[in-house]
Amino acid sequence: MSLIGLNICVVGGGIGGLTAAIALARRGASVEVLEQAPVISEVGAGIQVSPNGMCVLAALGVADDIQARSVQAEAVELRDYRASRLVTRLNLGLLDATQKYFFLHRADLIDSLTQGAKAAGVTVHVGQKAVAVQAGHPASVTLENGDKRTADLVVCADGLHSIGRGALNGTLAPYFTRQVAWRAIVPNTIDHPNVARVHMGPKRHVVTYPLRDGSGVNLVAVEEKGAWGEESWATQDDPANMLAAFEDFCDPVKHLMRGAQAVGKWGLFKHPVALKWSDQGVVLLGDAAHPTLPFMAQGAVMAIEDAWVLAASLDRTDDLAAGLAAYQERRFERVSKIVETASKNAWRYHLSFPPLRFAAHSVMRFGGAVAPSKMMGQFDWIYRHDVTAD
Ligand SMILES: Cc1cc2nc3c(=O)[nH]c(=O)nc-3n(C[C@H](O)[C@H](O)[C@H](O)COP(=O)(O)OP(=O)(O)OC[C@H]3O[C@@H](n4cnc5c(N)ncnc54)[C@H](O)[C@@H]3O)c2cc1C
Repeated sequence: MSLIGLNICVVGGGIGGLTAAIALARRGASVEVLEQAPVISEVGAGIQVSPNGMCVLAALGVADDIQARSVQAEAVELRDYRASRLVTRLNLGLLDATQKYFFLHRADLIDSLTQGAKAAGVTVHVGQKAVAVQAGHPASVTLENGDKRTADLVVCADGLHSIGRGALNGTLAPYFTRQVAWRAIVPNTIDHPNVARVHMGPKRHVVTYPLRDGSGVNLVAVEEKGAWGEESWATQDDPANMLAAFEDFCDPVKHLMRGAQAVGKWGLFKHPVALKWSDQGVVLLGDAAHPTLPFMAQGAVMAIEDAWVLAASLDRTDDLAAGLAAYQERRFERVSKIVETASKNAWRYHLSFPPLRFAAHSVMRFGGAVAPSKMMGQFDWIYRHDVTAD
């Protein structure tokens, strides 16, 4: 189906929505993005974009700008929490030269995508909160201010609390995963190398990696909690609370934590992968369809892959419904497997029974020492997957 002249309304100007807007507009669709926030922005935090996301961004013509704002990652290191002893190292240098893995500030990624969307002819409207979507021909979006937009296709890239997901799959509230995350960007006081470090402790882990010119470090500290008592799913917290929760962690981690001026605290909520991704001109994308725990650093990258596959699937058929069905078909198994792998990492990172932790770490340490490429190869199905080549 040619996308030329197709009217598409994207609800949500996050990473998924903007990437989808670029992908669809570059194939000829007339695209507008409706974002509820007063400005297109992101939380003050970092993000890892692995090669399977970068190949889409390259195909969409925005990778150079993103790369110029990023730190190229050399490795992912798993370390023990107390002595920072290396458990295993995924050497990202073992990937092909064209496969690059980056760390960047979310605001930089969003800015590059916004510029890319505008260059592709997309209109971006801010301060436009959608309150309902209606499947049909045309499909429609009702805004909080009472306005109504109609379109051949409404792409709901509106995240965890998606109204599109509710319309297509029922309005169950997301469930608390028993994980909370503190996030901060802190001064790089430890000369952090260009690696993502995961310090693994009982029921907790901390991820750190450098950003921009290396003067700042992105810090995510995750702890298992029985309940999320806050009213909102995201709140500000006193950095002292984060430090207290990780006071038995090694000095480099605590040193970084002490530099935090402000920390955000998130309850990590989730839905199962949606069973129904589309209906008569309404389709889900990114977290709206498949929210995940962040423990594989793949949530946004999956949304980026979705964006390409959605546009390509529509381009390949003459029928909108068939194109939307092909999109879900091409994505469902892969995203389900990634979501499941991320959930298993919660268990792997947070082992609290010392003999079990010792055994598991020994296996990883041995595997990484004798067969580093095999260790890295376990992730080929994620990192080497190129949806633009399908
Ligand atoms: C601690 C943490 C670390 C993470 N690290 C990584 C990482 O390193 N790599 C990675 O790939 N992923 C990571 N993720 C996951 C990633 O952040 C999400 O998967 C990704 O942001 C999903 O993108 P999205 O565009 O689908 O949804 P969102 O980012 O949620 O964007 C949705 C957009 O829609 C807007 N919106 C919502 N409702 C409406 C409405 N009704 N009307 C209009 N607009 C609306 C929102 O304002 C927002 O701009 C991490 C997540 C967490 C919590």
